[in-house]
Amino acid sequence: MAKAKLAIATFVAAMAVISPAVAQQLSNAQRDAAVQFALNNTRHTMFHEIGHLLVDQLDLPVLGREEDAVDTMATLLMLDTGTEADVVGLQDTIEGWLYSESFRPSRGYVNSAFYGAHSLDIQRSYAMVCLMVGSDYDRHTQYATRISLPIDRQTSCAEDYRIAERGWSAVLEPHRREGAPASDVSVQYRDTRGEYPEAQALLEQAQVLEQYADWVAKNYVLPRPVRMTAENCGEVNAFYDLETREVILCYEWVDFFYELYVSDIMPVREHFELMRKLKLDKLGRLD
Ligand SMILES: [Zn+2]
Repeated sequence: MAKAKLAIATFVAAMAVISPAVAQQLSNAQRDAAVQFALNNTRHTMFHEIGHLLVDQLDLPVLGREEDAVDTMATLLMLDTGTEADVVGLQDTIEGWLYSESFRPSRGYVNSAFYGAHSLDIQRSYAMVCLMVGSDYDRHTQYATRISLPIDRQTSCAEDYRIAERGWSAVLEPHRREGAPASDVSVQYRDTRGEYPEAQALLEQAQVLEQYADWVAKNYVLPRPVRMTAENCGEVNAFYDLETREVILCYEWVDFFYELYVSDIMPVREHFELMRKLKLDKLGRLD
């Protein structure tokens, strides 16, 4: 029987061949920014897969499509921390999905985009920004406007946020740990056999899997042991495996977002930063 796996992505898997390894010298600051971008996209992905894990292990009701629901859970968790780091993390994740959309072949959509389990990448990015601006209009309206979410939709997003927050709180609350023994969540980094040593080293050094395993173990009472695994998957993706009760983060996923940042996002951000500085210099001279 084929393994039942719930994935994070459909289209993005084809992108690895579009974004070749970028052979260029990076400054330490540029490398740090690329690492942070990859980790930010990984954060939303890990919470998405943990959402599948919680639905499965806690037998949670899901009203609507599960892929949309766990995207929502991941976004709510990052909004709930209230930190600037998580706001930037959400913005980086949105940018990741928007770039994924822009890589779509010129012939446009194929039917599988419509009958697949996931919403379109562009819808996933707008759903995230809607929850952001719905949670705190003043904090996020400037960003939402920048990525073209109209003001009338920004206003109605408050209700999307309220319903999403109420739903997830209601189903998760009975399973919160509240002093019970910590759940059994193990971690493993499978050897890449040299294919993605940088991605493996990055995840191990930053203790990425440990961080999410701790979060699950401390917050929720699970009926059975579960596992967080990082490995070579042969595709740019992440999964929850229903049979092994395992969140699987592919090294290819981390590698892909690192390369995407260096090849596509960094040049744009550096250009805008330069323009901003030039503008400020000009304004300064006018004083
Ligand atoms: Zn999924």
